[in-house]
Amino acid sequence: LEGLIVKALSGYYYVKPLYDGNIISGEDPSVQCRARGIFKKKGISPLVGDRVMYSLTENGEGTVDEILPRSSQLIRPPVANVDLAVLLFSVKEPDLSLHLLDKFLVHIEHAGLEALICLTKQDLANASDDLLEQVKRQYEKIGYKVLITSSLQGIGTQQVKDHLAGRISVFSGQSGVGKSSLLNALMPGLSLDTSEISLRLGRGRHTTRHVELIELDNGGYVADTPGFSQLDFLELGVEELSPCFREFAPYAAECKFRGCSHLQEPGCRVIQAKEEGIILPSRYEHYVGFYTEMKDKKRRY
Ligand code: GDP
Ligand code: ZN
Repeated sequence: LEGLIVKALSGYYYVKPLYDGNIISGEDPSVQCRARGIFKKKGISPLVGDRVMYSLTENGEGTVDEILPRSSQLIRPPVANVDLAVLLFSVKEPDLSLHLLDKFLVHIEHAGLEALICLTKQDLANASDDLLEQVKRQYEKIGYKVLITSSLQGIGTQQVKDHLAGRISVFSGQSGVGKSSLLNALMPGLSLDTSEISLRLGRGRHTTRHVELIELDNGGYVADTPGFSQLDFLELGVEELSPCFREFAPYAAECKFRGCSHLQEPGCRVIQAKEEGIILPSRYEHYVGFYTEMKDKKRRY
């Protein structure tokens, strides 16, 4: 049987059946499984999000026999096969920070995940300025999907939910941006169990060491622990930074110097594109800021 590990706790793995490899919403309860001893011998352990082959044992439990190849593996939270990172940024409380948004995007590009940017608390936006629309337009131009939402007024929430169907997602964003509220809006009538879980999303109690996937009623799963909680650049080399700014790519390819840092080199096409207004100045500034931050970190460690 093929299944998906939705929870790991005290040596047990909770496996939901898959049908032709697909996540299907359904009433199927998860099967409590032990992992075969062979995994321990090989030094590998199943992760939440793993697609596995499992078999049923006589007592109604099961064993995980094989871990199917992973498409991705996150460290924080420890979840395999994450398809989508949902980045939440509120217009107010806390204020929208493009600096932080670009930082998240670097980590997501580096992890090879797809991003969905949600600009939340639309109801708090100033009616007189079009900040949200402007940010949406700018980031869509770069190639990201952007949705404007208000969990309070039910705006955009169905669109978010449609994006999560049949995939494994992590929610990311500062505390207070509305992660729990959005999740609650996506799943009216959360069971008590789940609302405790969503509280964890809110409070960022990610010290608790078991992750669980919350099942939506459209076959989507959301990790109950926020992703990318530590946004340092320790695991990134400076030369890996520029490719994480995807709109730089066509210009970076034309830079005069190979390995151009795009900071001050003569004939740098990225700088030129920024000056021509093709690359958003704030994106370029953040690139320079992160680059400097990374250099400083490397010096200190
Ligand atoms: P989390 O820490 O990211 O999970 O954020 P929460 O979901 O706990 O929300 C933080 C605060 O923002 C709470 O007081 C929510 O009621 C409020 N909030 C969440 N979504 C909205 C929204 O769409 N509009 C408004 N006005 N407030 C919201
Ligand atoms: Zn350059």
